[in-house]
Amino acid sequence: MAIRDDTDFTAEFDALRALSARVGGDPLLVQAAGGNTSIKRDGTLWIKASGTWLANALSDDIFVPVAMTPLLDCVEKDDPAAEKAQSFVIAAENPSGLRPSIETTVHSAMPQRIVVHVHCVDTIAVAVRREAEAILEQRLKGMNWAFVPYARPGLPLAHAIRKRLRPGIDVLVLGNHGLVVAAETVADAAALLERVCARLGQPRREAPPADEKALKDLAAGSGYRLPQMAEAHTVATDGQSCRIAAGGSLYPDHVIFLGPGSVVAGEGETAADIAAAAKAAGLPEPASILFPGKGVVMREDASAGAEALARCLADVTARMGEDARPRYLSEEENAELLDWDAEKYRQMLDSRAAAGRT
Ligand SMILES: [Zn+2]
Repeated sequence: MAIRDDTDFTAEFDALRALSARVGGDPLLVQAAGGNTSIKRDGTLWIKASGTWLANALSDDIFVPVAMTPLLDCVEKDDPAAEKAQSFVIAAENPSGLRPSIETTVHSAMPQRIVVHVHCVDTIAVAVRREAEAILEQRLKGMNWAFVPYARPGLPLAHAIRKRLRPGIDVLVLGNHGLVVAAETVADAAALLERVCARLGQPRREAPPADEKALKDLAAGSGYRLPQMAEAHTVATDGQSCRIAAGGSLYPDHVIFLGPGSVVAGEGETAADIAAAAKAAGLPEPASILFPGKGVVMREDASAGAEALARCLADVTARMGEDARPRYLSEEENAELLDWDAEKYRQMLDSRAAAGRT
């Protein structure tokens, strides 16, 4: 459908809201406030606002209008103002005072009218592997795609995309991050998303069930409880998944919602022991703890976002086989996501190593 007038635009925007809510309601595509969608018209980019959930696209006001030309100028000049894109918001059309997503520059880099960015677990399970590009060569054969090596969301990611973008490309696989599809209409974007997800789809490895009784005993007297979603346990009940998680952080939202890496309990260690060790080291108590063979516990105050990302880790690692060679985020990449200095990050690693945990 070509957009000729306001009626057409309103219909497309409604279709985008419906697609956003559908995509946002699927935990295998989007977790918590992750992922974002956008529509462009006459130099304005309507993008999902920071902190809002795609799942609420039909009930809440989640889109914020951004003037594209000055934003693209700032990206070109590597001006930090492009990072949050706040100065390019068209205030008169933003009565709720929403702030644009940190990933606004991803959407502005794509020339197509509709852009959909998701943290699809099938895509992530490939995008976190050292051999990602070779796998994509086979799976996405015949499609107009590009692989973008990991860069921090914001300006670095915008530059990394520009380096790989060629005319006609409408699929981006973002290393250690997720998937972007773009099209002229919402219907075409939805169809493309479905096609790419089907090509990258892989079965979830069967894993033993959680031992809830043992987990409750291990969490006794601590500020920890069982996760809200039972799917989260398999990262600990499946040996391969647990080994992958123990190696470090795989993608940004994991670091932001759960902290860097995963805390895996040692033999005989309880949640209270681990919390006490963190406190003694002057560090926050971990948002989640993995008990190998038994399951996962979450800190009592874990947010809905942390719950969603705990499940995501189980969903991603269950799709990575013995032959997968994970490319973990480096110390510096973890630290910059948290706005920590690298030294604080190293202290955290040291205190975990001293406690015998990975
Ligand atoms: Zn993202």
